[in-house]
Order: sequence, then C-alpha cells, then structure tokens
Amino acid sequence: EAKRAGRQQYRFYSPEMNGRARSRLMLEESLRNAIEHSDFYLVYQPQIYLESGRLRGFEALLRWEHRVAGTVAPNVFIPLLEETRLINRLGDWVIREGANQCKTWLPRFGEDLVISLNVSPVQFSMPQLLSDLQRVLDDLQLRPSQLEVEVTESALMQDLEQTRKKLQQLRALGVRIAIDDFGTGYSSLAYLRHFELDTLKVDRLFIASMLDSPRDAAVVSTIIDLGRHLGLEVIAEGVETMAQRDWLLDHGCAIMQGFLVAQGMAAAAAGAFPLRVEWGALRSTPVPALSP
Ligand code: C2E
Ligand code: MG
Ligand code: MG
Ligand code: MG
Repeated sequence: EAKRAGRQQYRFYSPEMNGRARSRLMLEESLRNAIEHSDFYLVYQPQIYLESGRLRGFEALLRWEHRVAGTVAPNVFIPLLEETRLINRLGDWVIREGANQCKTWLPRFGEDLVISLNVSPVQFSMPQLLSDLQRVLDDLQLRPSQLEVEVTESALMQDLEQTRKKLQQLRALGVRIAIDDFGTGYSSLAYLRHFELDTLKVDRLFIASMLDSPRDAAVVSTIIDLGRHLGLEVIAEGVETMAQRDWLLDHGCAIMQGFLVAQGMAAAAAGAFPLRVEWGALRSTPVPALSP
C-alpha cells in the first residue's frame, strides 16, 4: 500500500483526491462509531391482509440517528455501508434485532407473525448471511417461517448460478424469501421460472400511479395474477389511499403495506398495533399527511 502510494504520490497529493479520500475515511469512521454506539435502530411497518384487515407482520426498516445530521434515510447510508463492507456487521445486527422483536411479539400477535428483513445485494452475496440467520434461529428458537428475507431483483441478477445456490440454501433453512421492489428490475419472468420464492412485493411507484395510468394498472394486475398462478403471496407497497386499497382488493391482491395504515413505527408503538385494522374507521378519517 505504501509502495503504491509512493509511486502515485502525484495522485495522493491532488487536492481533490485528498479531499475525497479524507471525507470517505471520516464517513467510514462515523459509520463505525455509529455501530459501536448503537445509533442505528429499526422501525416496523405493518403488513395487512386487504380483506380482513388482519396483521400479517412487520417489515423492519433501518434508521440512523446521526448526532448532527438527525435521522438519515437508508437510501443514503446503505450504499456507504456496502462500499465499506460494514454492511455485514450491521446486517447481522438487523437480523438479530428484528428476530428478537419477533420473539417478543409472538405472544401478542400469534405464531404466524412474519418479520421481514431487508438484505442488501452485497449482504445477499456473502456466505455469512446463512450463518447469521441460522445462529439467530437457533438462539431464539424461532420458526424459520417467522422470518422473511427481502431481496431486490438486481441482487438476484448479479450471478445466476450463485443466486440459485443461495436461494436453495435459504429455502433449506426455511426462511421466507420475498422479491422487493418487484417490477423495477430486469428479467423478472426468467428467474421466476427457476427460483423458488414466497412473496412478490409490488414496487410502490406502480401503486402510486395505477389509478391514473392504465398501463401501470395493467402492470399491477398482471403481477397480482402472476403471483396467484405461481402460488406466491403478493404484497402491494406504498398504499396511501383507500381508493388504492379498494382497487387492490378488487383485483385480488392479498396484502398491503403503506402510509394508509401506518409508517414505520418504533418497536414500542408497533408492539401496541391492533391485531386487526378497521377499514371503516380509516375510510372516515382523512389520509394521513406524508412525511418527506
Ligand atoms: P423498501 O424495502 O422497498 O422499503 C419500503 C420503503 O418505502 C421504506 O422507506 C418505507 O418507509 C417506504 N414506504 C412505505 N410505505 C410508504 C407509503 O405509503 N408511501 C411512501 N411514499 N413511502 C412508503 P425507507 O425506510 O426509507 O427505506 C428505503 C429502502 O432502504 C428500503 O426500501 C430498503 O431497500 C432499504 N432498507 C431499509 N432498511 C434496510 C435494512 O435493514 N437493510 C438493508 N440492506 N436495506 C434496508
Ligand atoms: Mg423492503
Ligand atoms: Mg420495496
Ligand atoms: Mg425500495
């Protein structure tokens, strides 16, 4: 490393490179600090059966409470964690924390409760994912089907042979497998032929525009039908209005997630969430204000 730096001193001393390297180092340092000081936490967003209003489970969503910057969104810091490979450490924490919460909630919500955990592309490609999950399942004596792993299409498409192997291993472990942001990646149909999955999550961009755009409506109803024919659960993401909820129900979608019902909530609030949502009560109240 020193040798290389020596040879490339002109680069090392360029003010731009120096600045970039330094801010990168500072960032990595502050991510490490955040992990050590537990400045990360999970919020939980309910997943609801559209017809009955019954709670299916919660998706765990990661938050970073930065001392200066305030709450930082995962779309900002997950890529940084991936770059620095710190994602494996934090990913393990997410799995353990989410699983712990699941265990705590079983008496209240019942044995069918599902906790969905997001797994980044880098995390998905690492062997450590399996051992992390296995260890948590063993330690907590959870039923594997109480945990669901959410992976995006792009993560699956990186290396098809590896992906097939990884999905088989996850399946052998018994955890559920969901495709996140379904419809926004490539080659959806090709891998659906080969990979064994449990759940499709329709990306919220389609849900947001389906009532205005016949094309997007066609995409959503096709995904719902596809899921039904393949025996997969379909979850509509980003449902914000009763009109969207009604449309989805009419078109045979089983499960929804979105601000119509709740945003991600701190564990205490999520633990007090009702076992069943009263749609009638939601219909008569105005749509909740959206946070940015
Ligand atoms: P995602 O997995 O697709 O999560 C859904 C995102 O949509 C969440 O944003 C959620 O707050 C937001 N959302 C849910 N319902 C609505 C709605 O009705 N309207 C609108 N406008 N938005 C809604 P969030 O929490 O900012 O997460 C963004 C992404 O960051 C997630 O997308 C996921 O890919 C990633 N992420 C979150 N937590 C983790 C984690 O623990 N590990 C990894 N690797 N990635 C995570
Ligand atoms: Mg997700
Ligand atoms: Mg999503
Ligand atoms: Mg997303």
